Amino acid sequence: MAEKKHKVETIAIHAGQEPDPHTGAIMTPIYQTSTYVQSAPAEHKGYEYSRTDNPTRTALQALIADLEGGQHGLVFSSGMAAIDTLMRLLNPGDHVIVGDDVYGGTFRLFDKILARYGLLFSYVDLSDLSTVEAALQPATKMIWLETPTNPLLKLADIQAISNLAPEGVWVAVDNTFASPYLQQPLQLGADFVIHSMTKYLGGHSDTVGGAIALNDTQQYEQLKFLQNAVGAVPGPMDCWLVLRGAKTLHLRMDRHSDNAMQIAQFLADHIAVAEVIYPGLESHPQHELAKRQMRDFGGMLSLVLKGGEAAGREFASRTKLFALAESLGGVESLIEHPYSMTHASTADSDIAVPPGLVRLSVGVEHVDDLIDDLRQALHGL
Ligand SMILES: *Cc1c(COP(=O)(O)O)cnc(C)c1O
Repeated sequence: MAEKKHKVETIAIHAGQEPDPHTGAIMTPIYQTSTYVQSAPAEHKGYEYSRTDNPTRTALQALIADLEGGQHGLVFSSGMAAIDTLMRLLNPGDHVIVGDDVYGGTFRLFDKILARYGLLFSYVDLSDLSTVEAALQPATKMIWLETPTNPLLKLADIQAISNLAPEGVWVAVDNTFASPYLQQPLQLGADFVIHSMTKYLGGHSDTVGGAIALNDTQQYEQLKFLQNAVGAVPGPMDCWLVLRGAKTLHLRMDRHSDNAMQIAQFLADHIAVAEVIYPGLESHPQHELAKRQMRDFGGMLSLVLKGGEAAGREFASRTKLFALAESLGGVESLIEHPYSMTHASTADSDIAVPPGLVRLSVGVEHVDDLIDDLRQALHGL
């Protein structure tokens, strides 16, 4: 089993996973069971019912904790379920500061659902620290950040925001885009890390899941209670798929990052492209922060086409290798038009995205083939 001193590459393969004591099976079994036989009433081996605990899930939770360098991990049936469960630590009247280009699903949960239960949200530009400070209120209990953001790839300085957060204001970081291989928010002072495991942690577009990692044991106990009480838990097969996918996290992230960098450079020189947004480019306004905060720049890249919405739709329809689909973080390359797809729910709001924006989730195929595909799709636009 991996130890805390191990590097993330070793942790990804070993943490939480011991050979099965009964058979020696090196891979964690898929414990496809809802209940566990007790030897006498209330005498059991630590497992009573699979909403509460399941051994395949236990292995994944230990892996998530170690990957983020945290004390505790909890996993859920989706990224949104993880976010919803975390927000239940808050009470009506509590105020949350949120980045102004937060993931569309997170915005919908906060704005359309949690606001009805008395939580208060302010959406601000987290790349400007004075704006964050100005948004603090006596009722503020949490600062919610994503970095890099989806789909505009804005960065927030995790360490600086953690330092300015007063005692009692939690900093929660959605680390889905970077993955724990590229960025470890708990080490930079954050209180909670959230993942959509659907994306890079799973890495193969074959399962939906979410996770929380944290250090504080009291908050962990509360979240563990909520995980069981609310019940948005993943099945053992889904946990196993993430255990398996995460073993190659570091290999995939290195290739995603290399490919995305080359594609960013190709696009930056293309006549149809008004702007390329990628933290690895020196033209990115927060390139220095990206270098400081991240090991590499990741596989997500956005571009704005000179031809606006029509060109964006056309480009996204023409690619052959880049599949037109929502989601991200799999080994295969995807393309999408946020304005009409993932971010349609933000239309007409303050955080609507530009109509000519196209988002790429750059996969791990050969970069020459990917660039050829983009070139043919951009032709004449
Ligand atoms: C996909 C995603 C989520 C939501 O996760 P699901 O697994 O789809 O529920 C949250 N945050 C970010 C940044 C995401 O990309």
